[in-house]
Amino acid sequence: MRQVTVLGSCGAFPEPGRACSGFAIDWDGYRLLLDLGYATLPRLLAHWPDGVIDAFAITHEHPDHCVDLHGLFRIRFYGGQRESRLPLYCPPGVLDRLAGLEPDTELTAVFGLHTLPGSYRVGPFELTGLSLPHFVPNAGIRLQAGDVAMAYTGDTGPDPLLAELGRGTDLFIVEATDRDGEKQRPARNLMTSAEAGYWARQAGARRLMLTHFWPGNDRVAAVAAASAEFGAEVLAADEGLAVRLG
Ligand SMILES: [Zn+2]
Repeated sequence: MRQVTVLGSCGAFPEPGRACSGFAIDWDGYRLLLDLGYATLPRLLAHWPDGVIDAFAITHEHPDHCVDLHGLFRIRFYGGQRESRLPLYCPPGVLDRLAGLEPDTELTAVFGLHTLPGSYRVGPFELTGLSLPHFVPNAGIRLQAGDVAMAYTGDTGPDPLLAELGRGTDLFIVEATDRDGEKQRPARNLMTSAEAGYWARQAGARRLMLTHFWPGNDRVAAVAAASAEFGAEVLAADEGLAVRLG
């Protein structure tokens, strides 16, 4: 099985019945998680009930992308699964941020940190993290396995590196926050759905999945705006949605 399953699709804070950013990747039995924001952990445990996870990649230290990693730390630390440390690929700020939630214990008792940006061999994948513009350091993540690639932006403003991150991907997961007044802001750290479509086209991606919707936004309208720029298949991330890769 080669697929990505959406654990959460909301930006900033979750809507009722939804969660913030999180994507579970299954690739021939290898299990990789991208981001673990508010309310994703129960969905992760439902997706992989035996709790076995091979590696994590977290794009940045904002809680809507990483806070449930702390819950997972507690499962491993207090739940008796401490045999080996979990590989964690992320900018250094992620563990620094979460450390404040656990004053008595080092998070590195559970996680083996590999810093992004950078490139690593991760199971079947070549994992590459590229720095993208955001309020804090954010690493967009590209996964290449043989001739199949996918990529995920995390949170980003418009940037030519997006075309490199998503170059020729089978699936490009791009944030489409569509916050009010976004295009008028002097510094761009988030995008519109139309910009997501534009950059997915620059990348030559085969399919675009929009995510990180501001709560309450019209997702059908977001897909329409992105489609007008992208000109190919656009999906909207939705909790529980599974998309085949390759
Ligand atoms: Zn963010």
